[in-house]
Amino acid sequence: MTFRTYCLNSAVVLSLIATTFAQEWKSGVDWQQPPIVTPGATNDQPPSDAIVLFGGQDLSAFENGDQWLIQDGIAVPRKTGIVSKQHFGDIQLHLEWSAPTDIRGTGQGRGNSGVYLMGRYEVQVLDSFENETYFDGQAGSIYKQTPPMANAMRKPGEWNTYDIFFTAPVFKVNGAVETPGYVTLIHNGVLALNHFELLGPSSYVDAPHYTPHAETGPISLQFHGDPVRFRNIWLRELKPAVGKRTSAGFNIVKESKKKPVIEKSADGKEADGKPADKAEQESKDQKAPTTTGE
Ligand code: MG
Repeated sequence: MTFRTYCLNSAVVLSLIATTFAQEWKSGVDWQQPPIVTPGATNDQPPSDAIVLFGGQDLSAFENGDQWLIQDGIAVPRKTGIVSKQHFGDIQLHLEWSAPTDIRGTGQGRGNSGVYLMGRYEVQVLDSFENETYFDGQAGSIYKQTPPMANAMRKPGEWNTYDIFFTAPVFKVNGAVETPGYVTLIHNGVLALNHFELLGPSSYVDAPHYTPHAETGPISLQFHGDPVRFRNIWLRELKPAVGKRTSAGFNIVKESKKKPVIEKSADGKEADGKPADKAEQESKDQKAPTTTGE
């Protein structure tokens, strides 16, 4: 065996007791512990810090909630839109809806409703299963501002989930936009809107443009004349992680001592060329018959 072959076959790394040094980055921010939130039994169920707007009993969380039909834990639009009594800013909103099985009308006239964030910014609800309409008006669109990135619609009668992540716009004292609103939407597990920058409130007749409003607003559900069904509506108010910068970011160098580690080579042998599983081999040796007679 040549020396080169020996080296290649062995490929052995033997680490002796050694002092090593490792570098670690620290942000310089003293973060507070994030709150503990107990999730629901399944991800569609409200977590421990959720505000339930409709759990199947009544729509008392909404103005005009008594106008809608509630049957078997399901709410059906009737007569008028409903507006949450409580107002919110940044939220995570979960709701489930189902297009009518009695299919009537086409385009915008089929299974139409809507979720209005802050009572202004509409995430469209529409039966978009094999139902053509303008793309920025189909299910999952921000009405008249952007289509969804995908049509993840389920058939009429089946339940759709909307998980909406909303960042409210912020206005300067003079009424100018400090930061616009943003919407992310997951429709049936499919990302439909990815941090979409709102252009302003949704309107059928006007170009979207911002007008300053309060830091919080209601969740509104649209009545468009169609018996869309709703269930399991809850939200969480979002608060950013809290931390205080105590310094600029910095590196620390840590000293550590490691125990000796003998790594096996590619051919299963240790550094001294013995079989890899030495213990097993020694056990076999002990059981082997003795021939020396000593
Ligand atoms: Mg609508």
